[in-house]
Amino acid sequence: MRWGEAACVLGLAAALGCSGAPARPHVVMVVFDTTRADHFSAYGYAEAKTPHFDALAASGVLFENAFATSSWTVPSHASLFTGLYPMTHGANQVSQYLAGEHETLAELLGDAGYETVAFSNNAWVGDRANLTQGFENVAEAWRLPGPGQAARTNKAIELWLDARQDERPFFLFVNYIEPHWPYDAPASMQARFVSADVSKAERGEANFGVIDWYIDRDSIDESLLPLRQRLYHAEVATVDQALGNLLRMLRDRGLEDASLVVAVSDHGENLGDNDHQGHSFVLYDSTLRVPLAIRPPGGAGAGTRRSEPVQLTDVFATVAAAAGVSAPGVGSDLLAAALPQDRPVVGEYYYPKQFIAYFPEEARKGASLAPYLRLIRSLRVGPHKLIWGSDGRHELYDVVADPRETRNLVADEPEVAKALERRLNALLEEHGTALTELPPPRGEMDPDVERSLRELGYVR
Ligand SMILES: [Zn+2]
Repeated sequence: MRWGEAACVLGLAAALGCSGAPARPHVVMVVFDTTRADHFSAYGYAEAKTPHFDALAASGVLFENAFATSSWTVPSHASLFTGLYPMTHGANQVSQYLAGEHETLAELLGDAGYETVAFSNNAWVGDRANLTQGFENVAEAWRLPGPGQAARTNKAIELWLDARQDERPFFLFVNYIEPHWPYDAPASMQARFVSADVSKAERGEANFGVIDWYIDRDSIDESLLPLRQRLYHAEVATVDQALGNLLRMLRDRGLEDASLVVAVSDHGENLGDNDHQGHSFVLYDSTLRVPLAIRPPGGAGAGTRRSEPVQLTDVFATVAAAAGVSAPGVGSDLLAAALPQDRPVVGEYYYPKQFIAYFPEEARKGASLAPYLRLIRSLRVGPHKLIWGSDGRHELYDVVADPRETRNLVADEPEVAKALERRLNALLEEHGTALTELPPPRGEMDPDVERSLRELGYVR
């Protein structure tokens, strides 16, 4: 007996519908790794070419102010999968691991009768950090290095869709990696953003390693930064195209309208913003503001734009609600009522243990990295955003008047900074539970994992 029929026999008809098709929607969750919101045309960025994300947003709901909970892959995916802040789930730069005690979205949906499948192009989103806990099947797409990851992943998804005989609703999670450094989109995609007379050597130079920015700045020709941005656009356009192809595959099989589709990112990327590259050490909006579009089944609410601040934790709550699952966490269902404009937005970046491991030893001890060897947390409420540093260096911005966070107001508006600090402390008191399960010992590492993580490590 198949699952749908079994459920009907068990008397779950009201929840499921017994017409053969499950009443609960399929869930398709796409993460564009390392993709900042302001590089999509739906967010008003004139130079972007992202028609597929824009079309998804137009046929569903676009969230104009969506934020990651961290500027790094592991804590952000952990929030997406648990509905918890990093201060609670404990997956961060130090632990580099999601403790097994947390209930994940894949587990909750799996228990509720969903088939759960992950296609991951980022080795961190896998066993190594325990982020795929609960998925029945994990396709480690990152094990096949080289160009065309997103297209290859879609091919694998297509094979899976066509071989599928399961009658359960599915939870399909996909992580596309292209916008992560290095920015080496296929030539045809680069041609849409970079003039043909820009040489290969020049493109290579503009692709300088993120680590070089911090330790060998003299080697970098900063006049190449606009070219670096264009190479990044080409990567964003590549994953946008992949989203379009994925949605077409669903449409062709009559699955799109039966699905809740979410497209989001885990964090943004610095391209010279606030004098940074990559997405380490900071919690500026260049790394926290992410694209988010949600298409409810059947395209309900098409064309809605929502302006209240939302977070990855809310995405978790939204998927859980659509699947009819009651879920833990701090998030709210984004397809229910509008949320307050002054709801708090939390960002966290722990001591950068994982990232600095890629630096040569003398650099780790040197003066240029010293300012970044600390824990930072950000709290945004209304127009104000505090970035609290464990070393006592705090920053305060009016993100409405100064969205690029260039004027630190901490000395000018100490009362505002203090009030946000008190609020952050209250959140820590309420949600900052300790990790009770230690990560597994780091002994032998799968050589493929090691190679892949090194490739993401910004080392040329
Ligand atoms: Zn990431």
